[in-house]
Amino acid sequence: MYERSLYVFGTLVSVSAWTSDEAAFDRAVDQIDRRFQSMHRDWHAWRGNGELVRLNQALAAGESMRVSDFLLPLLIQGKALYDASDGLFNPAIGRLIALWGFHDDEPSGGLPPDPGAIAKLVDAAPGMDDVSIEGHRIRATNPWIALDLGAYAKGHALNVAIRILHELGIDNAIVNAGGDLCVSGGHGGRPWHIGVRHPQGEGVIASLDARDGECVLTSGNYERYREYAGVRYAHIIDPRSGYPVAHIASATVIARNGALADAAATALSVAGAPLWQRIAGRMGVDEVMLVDGDGRVYLTPAMKRRIDLTPTGGARGK
Ligand code: AMP
Ligand code: MG
Repeated sequence: MYERSLYVFGTLVSVSAWTSDEAAFDRAVDQIDRRFQSMHRDWHAWRGNGELVRLNQALAAGESMRVSDFLLPLLIQGKALYDASDGLFNPAIGRLIALWGFHDDEPSGGLPPDPGAIAKLVDAAPGMDDVSIEGHRIRATNPWIALDLGAYAKGHALNVAIRILHELGIDNAIVNAGGDLCVSGGHGGRPWHIGVRHPQGEGVIASLDARDGECVLTSGNYERYREYAGVRYAHIIDPRSGYPVAHIASATVIARNGALADAAATALSVAGAPLWQRIAGRMGVDEVMLVDGDGRVYLTPAMKRRIDLTPTGGARGK
């Protein structure tokens, strides 16, 4: 078993593999490092001069831009996932995310944004249906659009990492970015056994065996938030209201497509108890766990069959 850690996307990414070819493992990790660093540079929504920053500038100016073969599939998938989630996953709300201060490395703890400014952005209703894609050329019919790939790029990147490992002959691996992961194969004839972090306390809320080719993505309001007067404002924004999601502590989705799992985890956090089953069905994910703010756990039947809730699972981790 070999393991190496990378620091990218603002988090520690660990790559582990069960292999006898250490040199191939090292080459694969070097390649993953390079690909992830360039994704971080090119897909950053507001910092530097990467491809997404330039695209956002062009769209804000009412201009179109040709995008690369790297960015294009992500934008195409972003439109499809936006539709499937009824707009709850909406990577076009970059301005709302900036308004809430989640573009800062450390979100400030000050007063929430002016309600009028929030309402203005909600009324402008930027959505992926306002983004048109013709070949490699992207344009927007709504000047309020700012793309932010933060809710699904990591899932996509994890799939790419597993693919790079396969290309170098490593078929038993796990790539874990702060608890979000994709796996291939297993180790020593056993499946990769993984834990899902408890959203409200220490330790894990559940564990499961991840199967070949699967990704497990979790969205949680504990990951990034700002706090003011005892109220926590999470980094997941409900595009319908313009306000952070308050009711859901975390959503975990298993799927083979990392970007889908990631986008669905975000969308289902927004959907909450009343809507999550319908949205999961529309997005085509059937292995889902939701934990609400009171520590109640919701599971799809398929998830229930394969997940072990830890004995305190469902209770607050106090
Ligand atoms: P995740 O941790 O995958 O749920 O992604 C959260 C990140 O996605 C945030 O930090 C924002 O950059 C962005 N985001 C927040 N709310 C949404 C939303 N409703 N749809 C799409 N992206 C969002
Ligand atoms: Mg996500």
